[in-house]
Amino acid sequence: MQDDWLDNTPWTVNLLPYIQGLQARGLIEVNVVVIHATELPTLAEARRYAEMIHYPATQTGNSGHFYIDTDGQVACWVTPDRVAHHVKGHNHASLGIELVHPGRYPNWYATDHQDWSTPYPDVQIEALINLLDQLQVRLPRLHHIAGHDELDLDRVPASDDPTQTVRRKLDPGPTFPWETVYARTRLTAYVRR
Ligand SMILES: [Zn+2]
Repeated sequence: MQDDWLDNTPWTVNLLPYIQGLQARGLIEVNVVVIHATELPTLAEARRYAEMIHYPATQTGNSGHFYIDTDGQVACWVTPDRVAHHVKGHNHASLGIELVHPGRYPNWYATDHQDWSTPYPDVQIEALINLLDQLQVRLPRLHHIAGHDELDLDRVPASDDPTQTVRRKLDPGPTFPWETVYARTRLTAYVRR
């Protein structure tokens, strides 16, 4: 039987070792895609983080479903019929796409390191738009899109000055081209903008 996520796909498949420990779900439950930046310099570093175990009971960790490298290569690490841990409070009905992007790396929470200036390569955004099209073909209820920074507004003490706070999550950040993405997909905003 052909599997929509594993066979003859436009992405490579490189499933995380703990995928069987992630909760199964029906594809009909997925209604929003959440866009992330890895805030790490390379796909290999993102993989290392994703493989770390954060939830001992299920022996699973934090990751998106799909990863897009800076050269536009797309890989599936968790199939959408599993709940991945990528956005606090919204995992069950969402699908996570991670763009390899340095963000605030390596001083994520330093007060003088909150500027987010690195642009996203055009080839990476083209790959994202193509992936969003593919996902809408396969996920009948996928109608909405959000940035991680719209869904997680928590602040944490700054690493260099505990009297100040900084955003815990800022991705995909101010250089993400929302206008292009909205213009070229049929997805609508999940959070009122
Ligand atoms: Zn994120």
